[in-house]
Amino acid sequence: MTTDSNSNSNSNGNSNGNSNGDGSFRVSVLGLGAMGGALATALVKAGHTTTVWNRSPGKADGLVALGARAAATAGDAIRAGDLVIVCLLDHASVHEVLDPLSGDLAGRALVNVTTTSPEQSRELAAWADRAGIAHLDGGIMAVPQMIGGPGSSVLYSGSAEVFQRYEPLLDLWGSSAYFGEDAGLASLYDLALLAGMYVMFAGFMQGAAMVAPAGVSAREFAARAAPWLTAMTGSFQGFAEVIDGGDYTVEGQQSLDFSDLGDILAAGSAQGVGTGPVAMVQELIRRQVDAGHGAEGFARIFESVRRPA
Ligand code: NDP
Repeated sequence: MTTDSNSNSNSNGNSNGNSNGDGSFRVSVLGLGAMGGALATALVKAGHTTTVWNRSPGKADGLVALGARAAATAGDAIRAGDLVIVCLLDHASVHEVLDPLSGDLAGRALVNVTTTSPEQSRELAAWADRAGIAHLDGGIMAVPQMIGGPGSSVLYSGSAEVFQRYEPLLDLWGSSAYFGEDAGLASLYDLALLAGMYVMFAGFMQGAAMVAPAGVSAREFAARAAPWLTAMTGSFQGFAEVIDGGDYTVEGQQSLDFSDLGDILAAGSAQGVGTGPVAMVQELIRRQVDAGHGAEGFARIFESVRRPA
């Protein structure tokens, strides 16, 4: 798991991991879809010796024009890099491409930024460990247009050695965060953050649907919803302190009894729209109230999620 990517057969590796000796690295990118292409573009523009490969032809052309080298096969690409970045569709495609090439990858550093589940990330880490490949898993918190710009971040877990050695390169894509040797942690954080995002999106859609029959456009509603929801994220730290402290009776919290969402549900129904997103939250509240915790703080709905019915 902690194979030194520069203590192997790489032709010009040196002890500080700087493959080219001038601050740049020899890096290969497998997968030039929307995301892989954006990642590779940032590397080429920063002056790294970048070799790229894609299953279907044609996707490397723009990168070659920028200065990348196109490899005819995935194996050629791997052999050209000390660091191999993989950005394919899913876990299955990663194994499909890498399994026959584990011998070529041995001794090199592998950073897989393909979206995978925590268990899939751990499975790939175990596979890499058996093959003598230093593996780091990455979860990209950005869309391709954001890569290299403000607001882009990438979460990593797995080999600390790989993360530390290549951090300056990884930072080209966005701010880099490392969560530890458990390769599944970055993916877990990634999916947990997406869980929060999708539920928030559904809440926005709920509100937009409620005002639509009154002639309010989604655009008008968004102009109100964005600053409101942004301001409400200021509550997260307070909720977190209560959850981590484990005492939902702390003074100053909005109680679950006070948080009944019946009026919102009734207003949605009166508008003739569905109420699924808000009904889901009401159910989380109801379970705690039914269990006798109505006087406790709203953060207690965490327990409804932590201990599913
Ligand atoms: P695309 O659909 O644009 O690209 C998919 C890439 O995977 C292509 O290069 C495709 O090759 C390749 N591929 C698919 N199946 C195989 C296979 N069996 N063998 C070899 N190559 C294969 O996806 P993205 O680039 O957008 O996404 C790539 C990864 O990045 C995904 O895991 C995604 O979840 C993740 N990601 C993407 C984000 C985004 O906003 N786009 C955000 C965060 C993460 P070919 O061209 O030949 O089809």
